[in-house]
Amino acid sequence: MTLAARLLLVCGIMAAALLAGASDPLRAGPAESSGSQAATAASCPGRPDTLGTSRVVEIDTAGGPRFGVPGPEPFALLNDREVVLTFDDGPMRRYTRPILDALDEECVKATFFVVGRMALSDPDTLRDTEARGHTIALHTWSHKRLDRIGAAASKQEIELGLSATSLALGRPVAPFFRFPYLGESSAMRAYLKTRNMATVAIDIDSRDFLTRNPSVMRANVMKQLAQKGRGIILFHDIQPATAGGLRALLLELKQKGYKVVHIVPKGPAATLPEFDAMAEREAQRRKLALSTQPLADRSAVWPNTGADSERLPWAPENGAVPASPVSVPAALPPPVRPNLKPSIDDDSWATNPLGIR
Ligand SMILES: [Zn+2]
Repeated sequence: MTLAARLLLVCGIMAAALLAGASDPLRAGPAESSGSQAATAASCPGRPDTLGTSRVVEIDTAGGPRFGVPGPEPFALLNDREVVLTFDDGPMRRYTRPILDALDEECVKATFFVVGRMALSDPDTLRDTEARGHTIALHTWSHKRLDRIGAAASKQEIELGLSATSLALGRPVAPFFRFPYLGESSAMRAYLKTRNMATVAIDIDSRDFLTRNPSVMRANVMKQLAQKGRGIILFHDIQPATAGGLRALLLELKQKGYKVVHIVPKGPAATLPEFDAMAEREAQRRKLALSTQPLADRSAVWPNTGADSERLPWAPENGAVPASPVSVPAALPPPVRPNLKPSIDDDSWATNPLGIR
């Protein structure tokens, strides 16, 4: 059988399985089915050479399940050589857009864990992300560490983030939550269960915030994948190493036989009315601020401090920050400035987008 014929056969089997609503019978983990997303997985007609999305897993978030290490069932979501692509902290169009283009080039779908006030600042990019078939999920209102603030402030971070992201998107988002800096608190884990939101942690860290070099980012991912064989991969769509290196990484994943799984929710996340009202007020305040600053960059807003990985069960090798020989494509703008901590009440981002003081 020729290579082309084999590819057609594989694609045919995959599409048939998805259209039939088949789930992986070998995994007893979360509820799975192809559901309404089946067409997404099979939606690259005429492009059998792309990586493609091999499987869609529908997650029932009732009771607030948790995915990613550490956990009693690490990798329960995935079979060997399967990965989930996740992007945190955006949208930030100068990096999110090239990432979306790279995903389109290889016909793969991903999950974006969005920061609420980033979403309000650039709803166009958020809606474009969803329109291209990706899952929009939640990463709080302003990226505070929920294990370092009280329960009331944490609840506001979660709920205002959810309402703001839903408002910016114009429709409900997925009830998937990722803790900023992976800093989980037992109180908020319990709260998320009551809200039927799944906590999605990570298995593989691209460490894209530690380097501007796409090759370093790619090597980080491939090395961990070689050790673990599968996993939920963390990227940031505010980082140039990922924006510049994602396409090459996808090609390497394809070459080495990895498959991309797209996670979708069984149902949408329900917002709370009081936080919807608060999000509406925040949106109006931002419109007003932008109207007084017509030259403000609507897409560049909030300086992220980066280190989501400091709560990982594994530390960066030697605790050292990798050297950053910059080989970022010239078209990409410089990275977000680090070490500037935003405050929920600090609206200077609207008029001073990069937080330069
Ligand atoms: Zn983050």
